[in-house]
Amino acid sequence: MAKEDQGLAIGIDLGTTYSCVAVWRDHHCRVDIIHNDQGNNTTPSFVAFTDQERLIGDAAKNQAATNPQNTVFDAKRLIGRKYSDPDVQKDMMLWPFKVVAGTNDKPMITLNYKGEEKQFCAEEISSMVLVKMREIAEAYLETKVKNAVVTVPAYFNDSQRKSTIDAGTIAGLNIIRIINEPTAAAIAYGLDKRINCVGERNVFIFDFGGGTFDVSILTIKGKIFEVKATAGNTHLGREDIDNRMVNYFVEKIKKEKKEDISGNPRALRRLRSACERAKRTLSHAVTASIEVDSLSNGIDFCSSITRARFEEINMKLFNQCMETVDRCLADAKMDKCSIHDVVLVGGSSRIPKVQELLQGFFDGKDLCKSINPDEAVAYGAAVQAALLSEGIKNVPDMVLLDVTPLSLGIYISGDIMSVMIPRNTTIPVKRTDTYYTTVDNQSSVDIDIYEGERTKASDNNLLCPFSLSGLPLAPRRHPIDVCFAIDENGILSVSAKEKTTGISNKIIITNEIGRLSTEEINRMIQGAEEYKVEDMKFLRKAKARNEIDDYAYKIKNALKNENFSSKLCSEDREKISSAITKATELLDGDQQKEEIDVFEDHLKDLINLFERVVGKSG
Ligand code: ADP
Ligand code: MG
Repeated sequence: MAKEDQGLAIGIDLGTTYSCVAVWRDHHCRVDIIHNDQGNNTTPSFVAFTDQERLIGDAAKNQAATNPQNTVFDAKRLIGRKYSDPDVQKDMMLWPFKVVAGTNDKPMITLNYKGEEKQFCAEEISSMVLVKMREIAEAYLETKVKNAVVTVPAYFNDSQRKSTIDAGTIAGLNIIRIINEPTAAAIAYGLDKRINCVGERNVFIFDFGGGTFDVSILTIKGKIFEVKATAGNTHLGREDIDNRMVNYFVEKIKKEKKEDISGNPRALRRLRSACERAKRTLSHAVTASIEVDSLSNGIDFCSSITRARFEEINMKLFNQCMETVDRCLADAKMDKCSIHDVVLVGGSSRIPKVQELLQGFFDGKDLCKSINPDEAVAYGAAVQAALLSEGIKNVPDMVLLDVTPLSLGIYISGDIMSVMIPRNTTIPVKRTDTYYTTVDNQSSVDIDIYEGERTKASDNNLLCPFSLSGLPLAPRRHPIDVCFAIDENGILSVSAKEKTTGISNKIIITNEIGRLSTEEINRMIQGAEEYKVEDMKFLRKAKARNEIDDYAYKIKNALKNENFSSKLCSEDREKISSAITKATELLDGDQQKEEIDVFEDHLKDLINLFERVVGKSG
């Protein structure tokens, strides 16, 4: 093989259910989707162990029913998570293989291999799938492959991304970049449309796979692909279509055959495969049959399902998808009319009802199906890989811009989240703002960095506290410059600086600190909406409190001036004294108990008093 292929980089869509690998062919100026040894363009993300061997991909999936306890899938759902994570606990109930808690609460998959019990972490299982994908590419390219771009769902947090890189490392791959799946699909799509694209195009990416659901809005303008907003809902995967179908038939079997197969992994696995096949059939036919010979206790199960019944079983799920679509548009502050293209990605986007609902949502707009939904993500990853490789000449050059999934900010007095970088801001980004000391002669400031959408800082996720000390003696409200910077890989660094002395401190937020589970991220976003009203109230109260504190301080300071205080009439002196007492009571008392009005009324009194008495004298 030619020498220039040595440095070749491939694109891998490491899916929850299926994976796909692609490569940029520079001399042909195109992406090749690489088929596996079975001739399929996608490979099941399955690994199995028998008393003889280890199987990966189609071979593993094909024997799943006869060896359910030792056939692993869904490793992507475990990656970067803790055993005690509620999502993991929920998933475990659906898996025929055993998962136990390892050191540091790491979930460990327990399997029997060649007659011996073995434990594997999710990274190891994923690495085996990655090895398979690399081998598929190597066989096709007839050369060794070392470098790869791997995709992850948009909602993967730092820890999950880092674990994916670890899986690559275990597989002997050098992962040159992790990119979001919908972003990769957009790259593929952009390549298709770029030639005819004049001005700016807003593209809506709808990715409905077997395990994840992600939607994104991108703007394509010339060479620039800008991600405006992303939203996702992993719960769809957890109670996914196949599970719902399996549950439906388990109940049916219970009723009709008086047989409960819910505790029989082998029967469930075989039923599940039959359901997946029927589901695919229902994308082009209106009815599908389910046949499983000697399912359990010698019962041959034979049944059928109509498309209408299938849609009924999954309607709630489909409607949830549409809610996510709506939320993504709201986040991007875009009207659905401003979307130029709606793109389908992921195997489940082939379901007619899903397409119908999506088309209905976009007022009858034609959906783009020109990209094969199973291959678009790997296609984009391959283009990205080529862009990052040396010696590639013909790949269309473009700049890819991504966004932050959660707002980032710092705690300010009154437990307020002062947002420095709002959610969905394009990265890389750098923002500087001035904050002030809160007491006189403050020698150090604590800067607590938070991530989340709530107004109250402590309701968000504390990423990391750090402090700036050695400040010069100064009255309160001495300025400190705080700077937030996020690089193109999404890594945040925060620095603080006192200008007169030049004292500064800097911190890089690494993966280990304050990791969030996908569920936590979703919960935070959802919580933010639910508690918005409560948050507004809290904010008003906190603002009034801070201003009361400020005015009380200013008045007290004015009183220290002999010239001023000696001129005060006894009536004003009394008024000031009682206003300050009341202010102190309000500030020190139970914040929850008092109504907003009490704070706002007293603030008004203080302002009046200040302007009439102090302002006049100054
Ligand atoms: P993931 O990225 O989550 O691994 P994919 O995008 O590869 O998922 O999609 C896989 C899912 O799509 C599987 O659940 C599969 O059953 C489903 N799927 C594939 N083809 C069809 C079809 N024709 N109709 C309905 N579902 C399909
Ligand atoms: Mg996918």
